[in-house]
Amino acid sequence: MHATLDAMRKHDVVLAVTSGPVPDVLRWASVAQGTIIGGAGLGPMDSLPEAESLRRLVKDEPIAVLGELGLQYHGLSASDPKIADYFALAEELDIPVALHSGLGGSGTTYTCCPKFRASLGSPATIEDMLARHPKLRIYLMHAGYPYLAETKAILSSYPQVYVDVAGINWTLPRAEFHAYLKALVDAGFGKRIMFGSDQMVWPDAIALAIEGIDGADFLSPEQKRDIFYNNAATFLRLDQAAIDKNHGR
Ligand SMILES: [Zn+2]
Repeated sequence: MHATLDAMRKHDVVLAVTSGPVPDVLRWASVAQGTIIGGAGLGPMDSLPEAESLRRLVKDEPIAVLGELGLQYHGLSASDPKIADYFALAEELDIPVALHSGLGGSGTTYTCCPKFRASLGSPATIEDMLARHPKLRIYLMHAGYPYLAETKAILSSYPQVYVDVAGINWTLPRAEFHAYLKALVDAGFGKRIMFGSDQMVWPDAIALAIEGIDGADFLSPEQKRDIFYNNAATFLRLDQAAIDKNHGR
């Protein structure tokens, strides 16, 4: 935790959506002094808090995001009726949803998560849920990689959806990541791509993830700034006072 917070300071990370078991997230939030936005998520080995306890967490604790939701690891798509209450609640509470999309590690089905299916990571699987919740503030973590066509289809059809590039910006071969990122930018989605690290237990990954954007020659300085900051400020609805404070750093 302290290595992560040090890396955030070193790289001028002003806010980080952070998820894990709720007691851990609360501990990080209390130590991090305003730089952590807590997420109540569903990891590969966890279960979700009951929907009603989520309501209480959002009201009384520094929990302001539903996610990361690793539904794919549990054999679920976001459109599955078993998970419907959570999206309804997130829409009602007007909190962002961070949805895992794309892939997991190699061999996931044979290790932690026998219900894992690569096909459940396709952004196409979220469409029925999006149709039911037009006001939901949702972003696809890992930008739906490698489902480029499906990611473009969802971004084109549902203007409220954002993506982040967490994980793919440091775990993929750089050329592969840049090709995917360029395709999304060329398709016109540069204002809806957010930075993320998904550093898990490797604080050094924050620097690698930043290099993944900084080293993208096809992006202008303004496009990089959008990915690092502006798009998240819009998605998270940071108020002008917070934005001014961050710009003054
Ligand atoms: Zn994920």
